[in-house]
Amino acid sequence: MQLQQPSLERSREPNKRHHQEENHKDGDNASQSSFFDCAELVLPWLTPLELANTSLTCKSLHRISKSITTLRSSDASRTFENLPIPFLNSIDTQPYAFFLYTPAQIPSSSASPQRQSWGSSSSSHEPNWVAPFGAEMLRLVGGGGCGCRDYCGDGDGRCPCSRLHGLEDVVSECGPSCGCGSECGNRSTQRGVSVKMKIVRDEKKGWCLCADELIPRGRFVCEYAGELLTTNEARRRHQKYDELALGGRFSSALLVVREHLPSRKACLRLNIDATRIGNVARFINHSCDGGNLSTVLVRSSGALLPHLCFFASNDIKEGEELTFSYGGVRLRSKRSRCFCGSSSCFGWLPSEQT
Ligand SMILES: [Zn+2]
Ligand SMILES: [Zn+2]
Ligand SMILES: [Zn+2]
Repeated sequence: MQLQQPSLERSREPNKRHHQEENHKDGDNASQSSFFDCAELVLPWLTPLELANTSLTCKSLHRISKSITTLRSSDASRTFENLPIPFLNSIDTQPYAFFLYTPAQIPSSSASPQRQSWGSSSSSHEPNWVAPFGAEMLRLVGGGGCGCRDYCGDGDGRCPCSRLHGLEDVVSECGPSCGCGSECGNRSTQRGVSVKMKIVRDEKKGWCLCADELIPRGRFVCEYAGELLTTNEARRRHQKYDELALGGRFSSALLVVREHLPSRKACLRLNIDATRIGNVARFINHSCDGGNLSTVLVRSSGALLPHLCFFASNDIKEGEELTFSYGGVRLRSKRSRCFCGSSSCFGWLPSEQT
């Protein structure tokens, strides 16, 4: 393909005749470099399609787009996690999957963000620990936290926050109502990803989340982060995703979790949609044998809603794919084939009518 010089560069030529030759050259370089500075600021905000189209306009933009693509495939988390989580693909030409990143669950709203910068060469890997879309908004006013002075222990029951159990499969941590800080030992699921992982392309399953180091049994792996939906909104999106799936090559990541409250009569339903905005957990596939991850609801003092978290259910080897049993949690009405490959494979992904 013939690459064209952008009109911006060509239109420079006739102006500033009255300047000396040297000055003319300097001015030209300056405007060129500000053009590229500007491109380097703007291009990371583009979708893959927009980026591809932009890269066709001139050699320099092609070069910038290419480096953005490389940076994007080197970290799915857009620097929001402590460690980069790269995409690896030896199957086809797709360099990365495109979605907006949030390290923690966020309330869904009609004003949800449309764009987020990704692949800027200036973004260092300083974990960007400010939740991007207002994750801290879901606070319980007046929720009692702990008054521990310096130390809350590490979930050993020393701090009242870690003793709020009484519910099966629910873990309690310190939270927004507590006096302790983010370094508190009783907040192990609140600091994002702390194990090395990678996202590997598989011929049948698509993208798969894999361990990139040994993960010992019991270790926190990641939260299932995404937009929190009302049940009506979840049903509406579910229908939309089914329609999109008919066109092929679309996979949704909408999870429904039920928490039975102590009274046993009430049941809290969490609808977490990581399809458009989510974290790396959206790449965890189902396994009919239960997989190597267990799901746990984590409540923290003063937070309105629990978080769905994944812990290693056995020692996970480096390179091993991370999986769990969707069981009844995933929202799907159209049945899809299962490619988990386990000896107990049922052949189809679990489905649930909502
Ligand atoms: Zn604490
Ligand atoms: Zn405490
Ligand atoms: Zn506490």
